[in-house]
Amino acid sequence: MERIPISHQLSPSSWNRFEECPRKYWLSRQRLPRRASMPASLGNAIHNSMEEICNLDVTDRDDLETEWLSKSMKEILDKHWKIEKKLFLETPRKPQWKPHLISKAREGFIGALNILFTRISLDKKKFSEVSIRDWKNLQSILLLNEGSLASEDGKLIGRLDLLVDDLDVNGKSKGWIVADLKTGKPPKKDLNERVVRQLLFYRDLLKETTPKHPLVTAEGWYSANTEVYSADGESVLDDARTAWEMMKLTKSPFLGTPGPNVCGFCEFKAWCPDWWVARNNGQLSDSTMFRDEVVKLIRFDETSGAALFERQIAAGDEGEVTESEIRFGGFLKDSAFEQISDLISSEYDGPIYLGSARAEGKIIHLGYWSEVLKWSPLLESIRVN
Ligand code: SF4
Repeated sequence: MERIPISHQLSPSSWNRFEECPRKYWLSRQRLPRRASMPASLGNAIHNSMEEICNLDVTDRDDLETEWLSKSMKEILDKHWKIEKKLFLETPRKPQWKPHLISKAREGFIGALNILFTRISLDKKKFSEVSIRDWKNLQSILLLNEGSLASEDGKLIGRLDLLVDDLDVNGKSKGWIVADLKTGKPPKKDLNERVVRQLLFYRDLLKETTPKHPLVTAEGWYSANTEVYSADGESVLDDARTAWEMMKLTKSPFLGTPGPNVCGFCEFKAWCPDWWVARNNGQLSDSTMFRDEVVKLIRFDETSGAALFERQIAAGDEGEVTESEIRFGGFLKDSAFEQISDLISSEYDGPIYLGSARAEGKIIHLGYWSEVLKWSPLLESIRVN
């Protein structure tokens, strides 16, 4: 089949981003400076440690050897934690690295392995009792570990965490399980729409690219509570291809769909006018403890970090702002202090985006958890001529 030149590819995460807010997806493709996050680094450390331990070469080791697993897990996790820390600190926009969260990564790693152990009834054993023979058994049911999938037309791509042979009590294969390892908060009851879409996408892409497949099921493995959640439903690939068509980059931005959940952790607010218009219209709340602002700096005291801000009101749909009578004080420290000092020394005097300011009464506090950036609504793609 002749491959068509592909301008973009749809992955489960880009599809989800597009469905959440098309403008967020459009902005994510503009090569804007990315923001690191501790949950993402923690998830990567667990995923990469799982990948490495599952691939551990034990072919020449004694089948009866025990008391090796915890030591190998520690070495592997420590290595990946170090790699994540380096990547985190090299990312242009970042909050503070939290070294103590390695204990959470360790718990997640143990949780993920425990789920895997249930597949060959190893879950009754202590880690110290797991032998090399057990490990070889475990590896024999892993059909793919971090495997890449791509549709024949090149439009759809995905990376499977694990493809597991689903054995019955007699050790006979009943089919395949597409397992996606989840390191975030487990659902209270059912999987949310995003995760279901993602799991079904992996299932259906695997089926499409592997014509001789047995029964394939899709599961989300939540390391935090070692629970498995199944996803069922019709194929999502037609919907994915329809979305692919709509995700072709255009010169002007896609429509924004602001809302408290979708905008809450959006890393592109400094470049998006829509959330600020929604805030000014009362569609988004301005009374949350952590909030974002678009302001003008009236005064700043470099000794104490005290500042006086004036809120800038949205004056159109394209990020234009105008002055207001709303003034409030703030205290800046850590990286927020450095960022505002840099803006002042560059003689910038335009509107400023304050991200994650902690409100206490009429005063806001900004520190390592916050961001101070130029307000820079992006109205034209820098990637399309
Ligand atoms: S801030 Fe909200 S509206 Fe704007 S891109 Fe992000 S999610 Fe979409």
